[in-house]
Amino acid sequence: MPRKDALESYREKRDFRRTPEPSARRGRRTGEPRFVIQQHDATALHYDVRLEADGVLKSWAVPKGPSTDPRDKRLAMPTEDHPLAYAGFEGVIPEGEYGAGPVIVWDTGTYRNLTERDGREVPVGEAVDRGHVKVWLKGKKLTGGYAFTRTPVGRDGREKWLLVKLKDEAADARRNPVSTQPESVLSGRTIEDLRARVS
Ligand code: MN
Repeated sequence: MPRKDALESYREKRDFRRTPEPSARRGRRTGEPRFVIQQHDATALHYDVRLEADGVLKSWAVPKGPSTDPRDKRLAMPTEDHPLAYAGFEGVIPEGEYGAGPVIVWDTGTYRNLTERDGREVPVGEAVDRGHVKVWLKGKKLTGGYAFTRTPVGRDGREKWLLVKLKDEAADARRNPVSTQPESVLSGRTIEDLRARVS
């Protein structure tokens, strides 16, 4: 069950009369849980990586985007839980609103939870709270295992995680889908296409 206030932070940051983003309703789905990676050109360009768990999308902002090379450790900053409907959101958040700028769905699909503790599966929501999540992504651009690991809090007091590709058959140091496959898997548009539409 989702925590009662799981989407409170999402709601507080946004004015739904102004932003085209989905309103903060909790969802319920059946079947395999979904993941989405949105490229978002806000104050700085980044990728929002989201995993469905407990009726919401658990979210991290990854400045460099995910890698297919297990040697890369990508910084992932946790962000507020998003509603499930956000997984299909692509568009332009207007100037003056939270996260203003274009958003595309860079990759999406379903995932399998691989997180275990003492030989038993740890549900993803609980795994996030514990600071370690392992999933198998089944996307269009990304497949295979990825690990999210919380790091000790540094001097700035901000919670930081690392996103790392696991060593498996989908690992590939030569691929660099973030630069070679920039287009939306929903519309084929790039973030530049959307940016051009605004100006
Ligand atoms: Mn973002």
